[in-house]
Amino acid sequence: MYYIQEVFPIGYLYETHMHTCLASACGKSTGKEHVRRYRDLGFTGIIITDHFFGGNCAVPRHLPWDEKIRLFCAGFEDAWEEGQKVGLDVFFGWEQGYGDDEYLVYGLDKQWLLDHPEIEKCSRARQLALVHEGGGAVIQAHPFRMRDYMTYIRLGLSFADGAEVANAGNRSVHDTYAYHYAQEFGLVMTAGSDNHDSSKIQSQDDLFGVSLDAPLTSIQDYVQLIRSRGPIHLHVPDDRFSADPNTSEQLHSFWIDSYEHLIPTRRLWINPFSPTDPE
Ligand SMILES: [Zn+2]
Ligand SMILES: [Zn+2]
Repeated sequence: MYYIQEVFPIGYLYETHMHTCLASACGKSTGKEHVRRYRDLGFTGIIITDHFFGGNCAVPRHLPWDEKIRLFCAGFEDAWEEGQKVGLDVFFGWEQGYGDDEYLVYGLDKQWLLDHPEIEKCSRARQLALVHEGGGAVIQAHPFRMRDYMTYIRLGLSFADGAEVANAGNRSVHDTYAYHYAQEFGLVMTAGSDNHDSSKIQSQDDLFGVSLDAPLTSIQDYVQLIRSRGPIHLHVPDDRFSADPNTSEQLHSFWIDSYEHLIPTRRLWINPFSPTDPE
């Protein structure tokens, strides 16, 4: 592992993207199971980002709002309790889905959700405004992920404070595209594992995350780092952003404009002649 911006001893390591089986339909580990694994692997903290109601959430949508939020927060609360016992900082966030584009939301809490039912079905622009109003930050998750179940790459450039350029669940070529995209547009970059199952994690090298110069005293410290462009070092394999562009792959990438319509980017995203070395 090495750090993109500078090489120096390991700082305070955080997971920024993970799911529990209590609130994410695709989750495999409980909050407690995740916590024990990350504590054993030397992480300082984790942020639980279960799939919100626009994504693969385990909570039935027809329930009253208060009940939905109570169930949605159960994965985080399970992790937080265990974290208190074993000494791992556990923070709250979520991942909202808009079809093919997804967003990680940090810095708000259960009470904020209880008070803001309009967050469930709002537009991307309204989401960003509401989250900012509440003192949080939004990161577009795995912007170049392409899977069988997805139709298009959709870049929400104006609907987030930054981009998750490395996601352990992606192919590295897709993270390479994301890295070039974030570099070109000067975006804040983060990394995360999108970990659904900690029983499969053997070592720290199986996990992505961010390394910080100082420990987070609250999730607000992380929001502050994102919004003020403070130092966020990427904990990723050192060859993560040097995948060869697969020229046979058709990249159907779209901007999302201010009306939230799709506009083709007509871009390849990787210039094969430009150095891909992150330095
Ligand atoms: Zn999932
Ligand atoms: Zn996820």
